[in-house]
Amino acid sequence: MPERIYFDNAATTAPDPRVLDAMQPYLARFWGNPSSLYAEGRQAREAVDRARAQVAGLFAAEPDEIVFTGSGTEADNLALQGALLAAGVSGSHLVTSAIEHPAVLACCRQLERLGLAVSELPVDGQGLVDPADLEKAIRPETRLVSIMAANNVVGTIQPIAELAQIARRRGVLFHTDAVQAAGKIAFDTRTQPIDLLSLSGHKLHGPKGIGALYVRAGVELWPILPGGGQERGRRSGTENVAAIAGLGQAAEIAAADRPGEAARLVRIRDHLIESIPAKIDNAYLIGHRWRRLPGHICLGFEGMEGEAIKLLLELDKEGIAISSGSACSAIHAGQPSHVLEALGFDPLKARGSLRISLGRFNTLEEAERFLEVLPRAVASLRPIRRLAKAG
Ligand code: PLP
Repeated sequence: MPERIYFDNAATTAPDPRVLDAMQPYLARFWGNPSSLYAEGRQAREAVDRARAQVAGLFAAEPDEIVFTGSGTEADNLALQGALLAAGVSGSHLVTSAIEHPAVLACCRQLERLGLAVSELPVDGQGLVDPADLEKAIRPETRLVSIMAANNVVGTIQPIAELAQIARRRGVLFHTDAVQAAGKIAFDTRTQPIDLLSLSGHKLHGPKGIGALYVRAGVELWPILPGGGQERGRRSGTENVAAIAGLGQAAEIAAADRPGEAARLVRIRDHLIESIPAKIDNAYLIGHRWRRLPGHICLGFEGMEGEAIKLLLELDKEGIAISSGSACSAIHAGQPSHVLEALGFDPLKARGSLRISLGRFNTLEEAERFLEVLPRAVASLRPIRRLAKAG
């Protein structure tokens, strides 16, 4: 039996062994409470401080600008709710995009019930927001713009620096959900006027249940978890020291390896993007050809939109893990993706995409095996129409 191939790194990633090594001492030996003043507490506090500096290093930020949260979802909610609670929800206006993760869109729906007005910017057929649309959408009462750095379904990367610049010029805070992008594309908060940025540990070979929000110095944010005052009053609750240490290590590795690793993933990605349509007649790429995450591919199969889940299960039998759309679609199986609909796909087509997302432990050899298996899997679902070319 060949080893399984894991091509769903946008859903979650395998923890790097160096991350597990960094966590282990804080699970077994140094289990003190970082708020305690005695030695056990100080040991734990040192781990949290080190991780804060490691995460800040990903964005050329200051350690004090990092707030640890329980997930990427919580970081998004803290950014939106925290900024809007500070500004006053009722009567305020927020601009976001139609393709955000539910962590942002569902948070908007909840804030709307408290009197927030929300504008969702459209995207073009490749998933890009037009900066001119942002310029037009900002009103005198706009308090926050929230646009994701890279999309979790199609992989398209937004012109974040340009969008942030517009918000800054108009005196509006700018948040970006960088859960898919952090550690994969470069961010520099010294030159990019981003005020708030969310990330998640388990998307960059770190642990689950840990995230972080970058909060630019001076930005006012109310806590959404008030309590004992941890994280300088921005996120109460005794810190998950081991997970924080793991996230710190994951961030340090990602920062150190990023340029070389991104180039390696782009090579494998582009090999797949070029080879798949040559082997399968009806396969087409969804999203922008090159403004996309280094390891991210989203595919459609003309005429097979209803069969994406069957194809996924067929590949699973062959030992290959890929996703149809996003991890959330397992919960909403069979429903059209709001992201694909926003790209202009009709509801039927918006149901059938396949997402291949590569990570640190994937190799070119695995891509070659995938290229052998995929045409067979496609053909097995449509034997009569012979949609797959031989080989
Ligand atoms: N934002 C984006 C773009 C995501 O892809 C995800 C997870 O898939 C999240 C937010 C939520 O992150 P977490 O799973 O850490 O809550």
